[in-house]
Amino acid sequence: MGRGLDAPDPAMKVIPVDAAHPRGPAIERAAGILRGGGLVAFPTETVYGLGADAMDVKAVGRIFAAKGRPPTNPLIVHLHDAEAAAALAREWPTTAALLAERFWPGPLTLILPKSPEVPNAVTAGLSTVALRVPAHPVARALLQAAEIPVAAPSANPYMAVSPTTAAHVMEGLGDAVDMILDGGPTPVGIESTVVDLSGKRPRLLRPGSISRGEIEALIGPLEMAPPVGAGAPSPSPGMSRRHYSPRARVVFLAKASPAISEDAGALMHSDRRVPARHVLRLPGEPEGYARGLYAALHELDRRACPVVYVEPVPDGPAWEGVRDRLARAANQE
Ligand code: AMP
Ligand code: MG
Repeated sequence: MGRGLDAPDPAMKVIPVDAAHPRGPAIERAAGILRGGGLVAFPTETVYGLGADAMDVKAVGRIFAAKGRPPTNPLIVHLHDAEAAAALAREWPTTAALLAERFWPGPLTLILPKSPEVPNAVTAGLSTVALRVPAHPVARALLQAAEIPVAAPSANPYMAVSPTTAAHVMEGLGDAVDMILDGGPTPVGIESTVVDLSGKRPRLLRPGSISRGEIEALIGPLEMAPPVGAGAPSPSPGMSRRHYSPRARVVFLAKASPAISEDAGALMHSDRRVPARHVLRLPGEPEGYARGLYAALHELDRRACPVVYVEPVPDGPAWEGVRDRLARAANQE
């Protein structure tokens, strides 16, 4: 007899949840695991997160251990609403209120001075904390049921490509997680936009699907973190220039046709022809491209391509998040 969505097998790790109606025993069980100090992977609108109770230092330690993530790399804390987020910040400036009102729930992370109750393990010893209220219905249902702040980096081994499906999580961290909520492929596909509001002037630390222009329209000019590969030291822990990388070497495709090895992969968005064996084509607009990017990189890794040629994407502001991830994937440092 098959089990329905309402009767998950307690021995099963990957539990399907209906993203349109995410309630019932699967969410309750996941919330119980989080409250008990365990690890639950769950979909957010950006990528799958590896969640643990943000207030439980041991549970947070399990995140770092599972990912092989250095303890100097802070985690984003996920909350059900802006009020719960503000409670973890020592200050809540007007800029935070404006951005939260406009973009939460959604793919925006705000950096603010942390309240003393936030463990140092979460913030990698920094005096600031990263806060986000995600929009994905499964993430929201889980946060509501768990009633705790949930620290959650992307659910992949350190430095690897972020997961956009439950299968990606299972492949990378299957042994380390207690449960994976499978809500299908994530709709945005790249990590949240990160804005630092803790300094004198707001700063864009990581571009994402919420664009710099949309943020500046609300709170004025954003200072820039140095571009990827600029050779400057990272502006904050966790901003390493090599990140989001597949196992393959990633090389930008030049205008002139390169001499391409037979078993190479290629990631294209135009109809340009390339003599690679594994050619994957993504949509020629930024939302569709972002949504498909990580699944394409996972797929090219699965096919064991030693090198992946990436067709450069356009220069416009709408492509900033995608350009950033491609630059990091291509950075060999
Ligand atoms: P991930 O959870 O893998 O999407 O990465 C989280 C990112 O958020 C880190 O790589 C940092 O860039 C950023 N972050 C988290 N906390 C802070 C903080 N307190 N200050 C600055 N950046 C942060
Ligand atoms: Mg990550």
